[in-house]
Amino acid sequence: DSYSFEATDMPEDMLLGEISTSGKDAGSCLSRYQSVLYRKSSSHKLSPYLHSKLRDYEKLHKQCGPYTETYNRTVKGLESGNVSVPTGCKYVVWIALEGLGNRILSIASAFLYALLTNRVLLVEFETDMADLFCDPFPNTTWLLPADFPLKNQFKLFDHRFPHSYGNMLKFNNINAIMNLSPFSMYLYLPHNSDDSDKLFYCEEHQAVLGKIPWLIIKSDQYFTPSLFLIPSLEQELNKMFPDKEMVFHNLAPYLFLPSNKAWGLITRFYQSYLAKANKRIGLQIRVFNPKNSPFQMVMDQLLACVLKEKLLPQVDTQNLTIPASKNLTRKAILVVSLYSEYYEYIKNMYWTAPSMTGEVIGVYQPSHEGYQHFGDDMHNMKAWVEMNLLSLCDDLVTSTWSTFGYVAQGLGGLRPWILYMPEKRMTPNPACRRVNSIEPCYHIPPNYECRSGTKVKADLGTLVPHIKHCEDATFGIKLV
Ligand code: GDP
Repeated sequence: DSYSFEATDMPEDMLLGEISTSGKDAGSCLSRYQSVLYRKSSSHKLSPYLHSKLRDYEKLHKQCGPYTETYNRTVKGLESGNVSVPTGCKYVVWIALEGLGNRILSIASAFLYALLTNRVLLVEFETDMADLFCDPFPNTTWLLPADFPLKNQFKLFDHRFPHSYGNMLKFNNINAIMNLSPFSMYLYLPHNSDDSDKLFYCEEHQAVLGKIPWLIIKSDQYFTPSLFLIPSLEQELNKMFPDKEMVFHNLAPYLFLPSNKAWGLITRFYQSYLAKANKRIGLQIRVFNPKNSPFQMVMDQLLACVLKEKLLPQVDTQNLTIPASKNLTRKAILVVSLYSEYYEYIKNMYWTAPSMTGEVIGVYQPSHEGYQHFGDDMHNMKAWVEMNLLSLCDDLVTSTWSTFGYVAQGLGGLRPWILYMPEKRMTPNPACRRVNSIEPCYHIPPNYECRSGTKVKADLGTLVPHIKHCEDATFGIKLV
């Protein structure tokens, strides 16, 4: 295939913002223009309403972004604690936690919250994320400035932090907090947040938080489904997403544009190993607990899945003759894993015997990092590149509970087959199951609801038709 392109070839959805049409940044963020050449034309376009919301957001971000007059004014208010300082803009600051998949999911949720509440999203990327993405919004930046006054508090912000909203609510009632007229508030929303932290998802608390200029969010969760249960946001969400399965698939390719460095790694790999295949199959093998999931057991499960679901052909060990056909169908298997053993096994399988179908099978793995590194920018880069490569496949097999896999499926708009967690060192039967929506799973949602004003114990997977339990994290919830 030829990958030469013209910005004018791009569909309008990919060209949000003036940058795109001015073409000025065509060189600084190639993926913004070129990704459409790699992704199958998406049948899931943005709704016209979401399109216009994003355009308005871009204007707001430009007007309120770092070092604008309004930004400087609100930062002054933050420093002085003087609530009488007039501010025009309100902000959400996102702070990193856990691996890249978790981070991408929580950024997307924080952005959606900002979009719904007319706030501007600023992200705190440390050096290990500095190189991964282009700035999504035109003529401004989403990076929190280095001299942001609360930065030295971020390290202290955990579940014990006394200034988090959840902890404050343990000792004060809402009115007392309102009376303090705080200029900023910390929202602790990761997997180990408690019931009071999760009051964030209740209407009456939204009313309080709505008045606070700076909200600082720490989360590793895709908390988007809970936003759909806040009555004051529901109508807007329905207009933005007539199809609830499209939330992450609409937002992720818009927000997370691979930087030129990442894009080079993605496209070179794609062109060298995947582009020529008639079909591309992505296998993401995430082993959370290697002791309980020995290699052969995981391999057996993976093969049981791909063979039963006919994603890959059986091999013919009885008949090793070469098929005569000239018009061979080529399948490329992209293996993504921290380990190389799975790749080696599959590659040998299709090398030492022909496939039953006569298809030619190529097997490729971009990297095998061995273990999860922290604070390493090239390690995160490889993870980001591999999420993108998986998203460019036609079919996907992912691992249970993996946010890495969710990002790949969401970017690609794919419903993967998900490998079940082995129990008691036994290969599960069935080995995998196709998920019913491309949305990521919110692993640890609240176990109560508060839509009528009072907090009542509830199973959030049964309240509304468009929120169901996840296939993998069964107490988690997802949009369908
Ligand atoms: P999750 O733990 O599967 O939910 O995914 P996360 O992305 O949040 O965290 C896992 C991290 O481990 C990734 O961000 C990578 O840093 C690393 N990692 C795990 N699996 C892979 C893999 O297959 N390839 C690469 N390059 N890194 C991986």
